[in-house]
Amino acid sequence: MGESGNTKAIILDSRTYRESDVLLSVFTLDFGRLNLVVRGAKKSSSKMIGHLEPLTRAKLMIIKGRGFDYVGGALGENSFQGIREDLNKLFYAGKIVALFSKLIKEKEKDERLFLLLNHYLELIDQELNFNKDQGELFFLKFSLSFLSEIGYKPEMGACLRCHKRLEKGLNYFDLQAGGVVCGKCAKIKINNFNGEDKEEKLSTANQSSLLTISNNCVIIVRYLLDLDNKLKIRVSKKVIKEASDLIKKFVLYIN
Ligand SMILES: [Zn+2]
Repeated sequence: MGESGNTKAIILDSRTYRESDVLLSVFTLDFGRLNLVVRGAKKSSSKMIGHLEPLTRAKLMIIKGRGFDYVGGALGENSFQGIREDLNKLFYAGKIVALFSKLIKEKEKDERLFLLLNHYLELIDQELNFNKDQGELFFLKFSLSFLSEIGYKPEMGACLRCHKRLEKGLNYFDLQAGGVVCGKCAKIKINNFNGEDKEEKLSTANQSSLLTISNNCVIIVRYLLDLDNKLKIRVSKKVIKEASDLIKKFVLYIN
């Protein structure tokens, strides 16, 4: 970026900075993630900050500063009013933005990520009957699309170790390797002194990173990984919970 630049941005977070300024964390279409100061935002005369609430898409004029760059002008494009007026929507949109902020690097331009985040905010904003179950599904699908986009697409088709198509039964998800491992491969034989098989144990090297995964969970994650699939599906709360926990642990592992 030169002395100044115009771009679209989604406001991720906002906090007070110095006495009367605000520090924004934004994801811009042209420059990736940036921290920007809004000078004098806390003064009652400041009109700009109204366009810069978290969960807003705005056009920004960014001016190069000595420390932080700052916002020279802002024009709100979409304040996602439907999200603001619904606590469920606000909760899940907040979760999406939090996950995004957690894993996104600074100053790396990525138009596809901008469009992905914007797409999900628009989807949630416009959804008519948004309930908690749907929120979980939206969040899961966003998480999987987002992880795929940043290079962490979970392998759900074939066992990562023997490369055979995963069959129904006792299977695992390897958090470290980022994909499924079949029951056979997850176990190693522990030999006794006579060389006979004594017992089968989960491979100790990977024990801490292996989670059991149910057949239904494998199916739903595969379904959600396919971008063309719709979210109008019925899934039991139990399976959604299992898939959400799995993604949560996976994110902790890669973060
Ligand atoms: Zn295997």
